[in-house]
Order: sequence, then structure tokens, then C-alpha cells
Amino acid sequence: MAYFTDSTILYYDGQYIPATQAHTGLYAQTLHYGYGVFEGIRSYETEDGPRIFKAREHFERLQRSCELLGIPFAYSVEELAEISYKILKINKLSDAYIRPLVLCDPNMALVNGQSSRLLITAWHWGAYLGDKLLRLKISSYCRPHPRSLHMEAKASGHYVNSILATSEARHAGFDEALLLDCEGYLAEGPGANLFFEKNGVLYTPATGHILPGITRATVIRICEQMGIPCREGRYTPEDLFTADSAFYCGTGAEVVGIQSIDNKLFTKGWSETIGHKIRESYLALVRGRVPEAVA
Ligand code: PMP
Repeated sequence: MAYFTDSTILYYDGQYIPATQAHTGLYAQTLHYGYGVFEGIRSYETEDGPRIFKAREHFERLQRSCELLGIPFAYSVEELAEISYKILKINKLSDAYIRPLVLCDPNMALVNGQSSRLLITAWHWGAYLGDKLLRLKISSYCRPHPRSLHMEAKASGHYVNSILATSEARHAGFDEALLLDCEGYLAEGPGANLFFEKNGVLYTPATGHILPGITRATVIRICEQMGIPCREGRYTPEDLFTADSAFYCGTGAEVVGIQSIDNKLFTKGWSETIGHKIRESYLALVRGRVPEAVA
């Protein structure tokens, strides 16, 4: 996967520069300790041109992640949106994945960063987990304990846990992992939130041990609009094994159905599920094809 070409322009530390000429120091705290924060955002081609979906929510989360980790960061939501739209325009992208990353400066001490730099880059990226139904494996890794880290921050270092879980699942022949929390309740995927359906009701793990996804919030909103009951709580793997269907959702993954968990198949055909309906609404919503009241 080529994330940039010779002609890609990115934003780094106040400048729009070719990706091929951008450098960063080898002594950055972010590189050594995973002490940095990032976002994963999508823009979609709409009738009015490229639109960044949920731009405010993503940029506010970037600011909040910095705050939680004590990383100095001075960009406003408006500035972040302006830079991102400019990056799309310069690189002639419309359906794109936008990746802001806040990097801390050289510092080998284990204390808050004193300064940071912002990178914003974008590339064309299809649905992160594809569009086929997923075969999941319950991971032997659990999500980090919320008293060890700020789980609502999208911090670079948290993704070591995700890489371990996805790699373990792939090596065992599955498409993706499903992580439990450290007490054995359902948590989330390495890069997506979980929903499951039982007797016409949707369920999703409550916040606390998960990254509270922006797509998750959108799905909950779509349910409200469509009159689909949706509950948040602490659920067990057994609740999932006896469910009718399930799906993952996230900015990168969008909404993608799950075929099986640890080789146990869901009985309901995907096209009959609530998840399938939600996927259609979501894909229409991101392209501005349904009223913004839902967005
Ligand atoms: N959980 C994790 C661990 C993630 O990395 C992501 C992707 N950002 C999500 C959930 C989904 O979040 P969002 O809908 O905000 O992209």
C-alpha cells in the first residue's frame, strides 16, 4: 500500500510540503514511547464536493486526546478543518482517509511533552476491513485497563495492543480479532466498535473500556431515527454467541457484518439483519444522501 507518491503534499508543522521531503527526528518521544495522538477521518464525495464526515467530532477528539495525555496542542477545530480541506484540494482527493498525527518533540524523559508538531496527510483508502462478512477470533489479549491508560484518547501507544490482537487472529486464519475487557466482558475490535442484534434489539458495549467511536455514536443516532431499540451495557461472550447477528463499525471500517466468532456462525442471513439496514443508512449518510439531522 503506497500512502504517498512523489507528488503528495502533506501538512507538517506549519508548512505544506512534499511527503518525500518531510522528516522528523529520531529522538521524538512519540517514536520511542508511543506518546502521541492521532485521528482517522474520512472524506466523501458528495453533490457539494468533498465533505469531511463528522469533522468537528474528530478534531475535538484530537484536542481532547492531547489534553488527556498532557500534550501541548494549540490548533482550533476550524484551523484543523481548513488544513484538512486544503490537503484534500492540493492532492485532488475526495473519497479519502485523512490522518492527523500529533508528534512530540525530542525528549527521552518520561514526563509530559513540552511541545508538539502536527502532521496531516491523506490518501485513498478503501474500507479498512473490506466488505465481506468477517470471521472473528476472540483474542487472548484484553483491552488495556482504563486505570492504566485513558481509553477515550486515541493515543498511538494504545495500538500496540491492537497490532498484537489483529496479528494473532490473522496468524490463526481469521480476518480480525475481538477483544474482551480485562474482566472478560465484550469490548471492541482492534480498530472498530462492536454491535450485536438479538430479538430485534441492538446491543453495544458501554464506554469505559473502549474507544467511544464517532461511528458508534452515529449508529446509535441512526437507530433513534429508525426506531430501532439500542442498548449499551456490559455483555459477555455468551450474549454474543446467542445473538442473531453482529457488526463492526468505525471510520475506517464503516459498517461491516460479522459472519462468525471463533467459527460459530450467526444464523440470520446478513441481508435480513439490522446491521445491514444500518450499513445502508450509514453509507447514504456519509455521502450526504439523507437529511443532516441524523448526521
Ligand atoms: N475502537 C478502536 C480501538 C479504534 O481504533 C476505532 C477507530 N478509530 C474505533 C473503535 C472506531 O472509532 P471511530 O468510529 O471514531 O472511527
